[in-house]
Amino acid sequence: MSLNQHINDELAAWDRDNLMHPTTHVANHARGDAPGRIMTGGDGVYVTDRDGNRMLDGFAALYCVNAGYGRTEIADAMSKQAHEMAYFHSYAGHGNEPAIRLAKMVMDRAPDHMARVYFGLSGSDANESNVKYAWHYHILRGQPEKKKIISRWRGYHGSGLVSGSLTGLEGYHARFHLPLPGFLHTETPHYLHRPDMDMSEADYLDHLITALETMIEREGPDTIAAFIGEPIMGTGGIIPPPEGYWARVQEVLNRHHILLIADEVVTGFGRMGQMFGSTYYGLKPDFMTIAKGLTSAYAPLSGSILSDRVFNVLSEGSDDHGVLCHGWTYSAHPVSAAAGVANLTLIDDLGLVAQAGENGPYLKKRLQEAVGDHPNVAEVRGDGLLAAVELMKNPATRTLFPTMSVAPKVAEAMLRRGVISRAMPEGDIMGFAPPLSITRDEIDIIADALRDALHEVLGS
Ligand code: PMP
Repeated sequence: MSLNQHINDELAAWDRDNLMHPTTHVANHARGDAPGRIMTGGDGVYVTDRDGNRMLDGFAALYCVNAGYGRTEIADAMSKQAHEMAYFHSYAGHGNEPAIRLAKMVMDRAPDHMARVYFGLSGSDANESNVKYAWHYHILRGQPEKKKIISRWRGYHGSGLVSGSLTGLEGYHARFHLPLPGFLHTETPHYLHRPDMDMSEADYLDHLITALETMIEREGPDTIAAFIGEPIMGTGGIIPPPEGYWARVQEVLNRHHILLIADEVVTGFGRMGQMFGSTYYGLKPDFMTIAKGLTSAYAPLSGSILSDRVFNVLSEGSDDHGVLCHGWTYSAHPVSAAAGVANLTLIDDLGLVAQAGENGPYLKKRLQEAVGDHPNVAEVRGDGLLAAVELMKNPATRTLFPTMSVAPKVAEAMLRRGVISRAMPEGDIMGFAPPLSITRDEIDIIADALRDALHEVLGS
């Protein structure tokens, strides 16, 4: 199958001549060498573009359209709210009904030790809020020097100045004077890439923990405010943590009074077949970053969920320090909040979290069956409805292809078969994270397309 694409009409020209796109080759796009598809519609797990192509979205856009496309319940709730009251600010304790209802729904779903949610607009700004709250917490406790933040290489936490510093991907640093001072990165927990092939998973875990402890000792525990991590690494390659990783990390952090930020932007609200990745992997975080699945991306909305130990300090501190000057014009935006309420209601009504829990292992099994014995497949992995296939030139010797030479071609070949996947930005890794509403028949379509695409690109 080949997909139509009109690239020389007026709309395509306006796109080339006026719009800067995120994470896009600037010159290629402006020249028209690499036009993106212009999307016009969606229903269920399918999206359509203006050229009439219908594609199965195996990555839920950017793993965010969790409830699936074309949900009139969410669109109607947004429309109703926009008609009644599109916007009023939330500063100085003002409120709006959908934001209050959504906060209650979020806190009802969050682990018991979490206390409040602050709503922002994107995962990036929510992580900036978490860093500021963590700094403020230590300032109020009389330890202003506790300021550095540890994240992991290949972690993804956004692309602002602070959130981009938290991110551990080279491409997000090199051209922008990042990371900012005080933002440190410890090792990626990726057993496939362990330094020594003979290491057992337990030895590898010891190695990771020693690296973390060494960093903390070298920097000085009294200078470190927080550690941030995705419960399962996402953009860095969909990498589940080694067995026991989070228990060991948390033991180290607790010993040094280093706060834990669980970045749940991808994992929040059902992707793991549970409400949060923190419960899935046994984390007890001080902050949880939420976004994507909160509204299934029908409107921009993120959140920073604060634990009671953090909230209590911030609350007591305000009696001496007054107003906490942090906020965005669009914090707790009523139309986005209405989308969030409708989305979480729909996820409950349709039982999508349980459905993801049942279909996640099926996705991994089908990918394994489809390509597990291909000579260039080093690993099929994943947890919940989140899976990856890592490709290597020679998995036995762990010889890689020249950087990113294969996965984008496989993604293209899948697209020609009508399936959207994601070539992850680091290594030759194919990522899969469909809407939670996907059925087993639709999962079969993804697995078959991957098998055929891999054979087309790599042979055998
Ligand atoms: N954290 C994680 C784990 C993410 O995956 C992302 C986005 N992919 C972000 C933060 C940043 O979110 P946003 O793009 O909405 O700023």
